[in-house]
Amino acid sequence: MKGTSHLLIGTAAGAIAGYTAQPDVKTALIGAMIGGVSGVAPDLDTNGLASNHITVSKKVSKWLMETAGIVILLTLVYQTFTEGLSSDIYLYGGLGLLLLIVSRIITQRRMLTITGVLVMLLGFVLGESIGILLAGSYIIMASFLPHRSYTHSLLGVAFYGFILHYLYAEWPIDGMVAAGLAGYLSHLAADMKLLPVNRRGVKWFLPIWKQEF
Ligand SMILES: [Zn+2]
Repeated sequence: MKGTSHLLIGTAAGAIAGYTAQPDVKTALIGAMIGGVSGVAPDLDTNGLASNHITVSKKVSKWLMETAGIVILLTLVYQTFTEGLSSDIYLYGGLGLLLLIVSRIITQRRMLTITGVLVMLLGFVLGESIGILLAGSYIIMASFLPHRSYTHSLLGVAFYGFILHYLYAEWPIDGMVAAGLAGYLSHLAADMKLLPVNRRGVKWFLPIWKQEF
């Protein structure tokens, strides 16, 4: 199923779950947003739509890295001519070259890995927020997993539930856990083989039972 369909179904599921948890419009709207994000989260294991949303578009990030690398190297050359050799030259020169090389070889999936690492760093900065650290680790794991494997299983649902649980402990927003789980589960349901649009199904019981449903 396509990313836009997952977004729509997740948003609807989140709105309903939010409203059920607490019947007011505000909770339903927040639930819709959380449900929408959660509805595309399982597909972070693809190079497709979902990962394009969370990662800075590859072209932009590549351009940024290249520009930063060239600026650093040019500054270094300029400095060496005007002030003579400084001891920092190896460090900054190395950094500039590294950026240039990384921008050449990086794939969409490794951009996602880096995004996950940055989210984890954010978690550390925000007073070691466990919820954000777990979210970052989810992104990193998804960037290495084959499509429709663990993110599309009950184990994935449980891990996502952990993330929501800890985020809720730090930022108690009504209906957050219910809407997030509803959105996530709606994705797996919509990916099932029961629906004729899906060629492949969902391996709910990985790693114990590899049957697709
Ligand atoms: Zn999927």
